[in-house]
Amino acid sequence: MKNFDSHVHTPYSACCEDITLEKLRRKADRKNITYAITDHSTHMYFPRDLAWSITREDFKELLERYHEEGRRRIEKYIKEIRKSGALVGIELDIYSDETLIFEDEFWKELDLVIGAVHFLSSIQKKRPRIEIINEFKRLTLALFSSGRIDVLAHPFRCLMHWNEKVVDTALIEWLVDNAEYFNVALEINSHYPFMEADIFMSKLALSKGVCLFKASDAHRMSEFGEFSYHETVIQKAREIIAGDQE
Ligand SMILES: [Zn+2]
Ligand SMILES: [Zn+2]
Repeated sequence: MKNFDSHVHTPYSACCEDITLEKLRRKADRKNITYAITDHSTHMYFPRDLAWSITREDFKELLERYHEEGRRRIEKYIKEIRKSGALVGIELDIYSDETLIFEDEFWKELDLVIGAVHFLSSIQKKRPRIEIINEFKRLTLALFSSGRIDVLAHPFRCLMHWNEKVVDTALIEWLVDNAEYFNVALEINSHYPFMEADIFMSKLALSKGVCLFKASDAHRMSEFGEFSYHETVIQKAREIIAGDQE
């Protein structure tokens, strides 16, 4: 799907800036874009000031406390997104104990589930590098093997923001091998671009037949449906593959 944006936020996510469903629809019609709305699953449960409570020690208690509110908001979200003409998706959070933050009764309503590791407790606790990599791999594998996700969102972002050097070719190979094994697609994400890693990941994915999704991860209207970054990454990955074959 040439003009498919698989990752878009709305005011259901605390980090959304100027996006509304109406503005998305207008731009989509004008530029011939299809898209999935994928708001943060955790944000469904909490008021704005607690949106990132997944980083807190008492997260599970908070989730319990806000559970019914979250359930009702998810129900409203699904109806509203469906009515807007977008595909109904979710950016699924995973907690450090591997709990998937969503409601069992609503899985069947979703057209697209993108899974994301947003937070590593080992980084917050300043644990040694090996523990951080191990936690990253454990949570990524838990998402891959859950049977719930179609796409892994911004595969390395939580590590990149901590230390870019830690994402080496061996780790990217590990990721693409597992995406292939579990039959999960990978995202090229332009919200925080990591060009070199994305080109290498795309090269491996294209060689192995792992599906790649173009994700703007739009928090602002200007990001929505803009694919120049993704196209550059795929083009460069193809050039490397062609060069390898010569
Ligand atoms: Zn995300
Ligand atoms: Zn996102």
